Amino acid sequence: MKIIDLLKDNKPHLSCELFPPKKWENLEAAKTVVAEMAALKPDYMSVTYGATGGTSKYTTDLLSEIQTKHKIPALGHLTCVSSDKATVDNMVSTYKANGIENILALRGDIPADSGFEPSKDFKHSCDLMAEIKSMGNFCIAGACYPEGHPESKSVEEDLEYTKLKVEAGCDFLITQMFFDNNILYNYMYKLMKKGIDVPIDAGIMPVTNKAQIARIISLSGNLVPPRFKMIVDRFGDDPLAMKQAGIAYATEQIIDLFANGVNCVHIYTMNHPEVAGEIFKNLSYIAPRAN
Ligand code: FAD
Repeated sequence: MKIIDLLKDNKPHLSCELFPPKKWENLEAAKTVVAEMAALKPDYMSVTYGATGGTSKYTTDLLSEIQTKHKIPALGHLTCVSSDKATVDNMVSTYKANGIENILALRGDIPADSGFEPSKDFKHSCDLMAEIKSMGNFCIAGACYPEGHPESKSVEEDLEYTKLKVEAGCDFLITQMFFDNNILYNYMYKLMKKGIDVPIDAGIMPVTNKAQIARIISLSGNLVPPRFKMIVDRFGDDPLAMKQAGIAYATEQIIDLFANGVNCVHIYTMNHPEVAGEIFKNLSYIAPRAN
């Protein structure tokens, strides 16, 4: 099933992101995580893809498990920063052969090591989207950045390129995480002014430990609102209290998004079904799951 067909109605949608294992011996454990997450009945589940493609086999394994065994629409991430056309075509064909109709097309982060050779065939995600489009009738998603992509000079510049993604065939956009909903509302206004009218799936990260927040800020430069900082300062050294506060904060963010007409929320689960489960439970009347 194409995810874009799910997202167009006016109901609240919840989906989950997972990452694949790095090693074969952890695949069965990852499948258990998939099963526990699938039991929550998210509208769809996505699986990340290593920027250099090293774990692509496990990404496909988990996507097949989600879709074939658990009958939940699966969204396969795909990056191109280090891939040539043949590698990308092979991966898209593999997704197709496994019945995966939905692809999140990404450039990927440029690895810091000096010897890295960027792809000659794909400079940006829009090049990858055009390639996927040429290979079949896929539903294509792209990433967008309410606070601007870290490499962009401004949100405005990044929006110009976001528009190119939509013109290249991107059916819907998933946002980078944000911790202040006003940032998203402001961004959505800018998207509208640019004429970008594809569905926006709001990415929410439940921050359940102190180390996570330091990493998030260093990777994405996210703004941390004072209210959130107070929570980390107060509960960061008490793991159970921090987990509870992080779940409550993410739940409140999602309720506010739904109340303000943002219907699609994608949860960055960090492979923690119990965290996603608490959030789903908190939203059981707000975003009820189909039986
Ligand atoms: P692009 O769209 O290519 O944008 C990168 C930069 O180039 C931006 O500054 C943009 O403004 C600019 N740009 C875009 N198009 C053009 C153009 N035509 N000309 C000039 N400049 C341009 N990473 C992974 O490795 N694996 C994953 O599975 C993964 N999943 C993600 C899921 C989501 C929802 C998000 C938000 C991010 C994810 N990432 C993942 C991280 C992502 O790969 C990085 O943020 C990466 O730096 C940018 O990817 P992109 O697809 O947005 O790149």
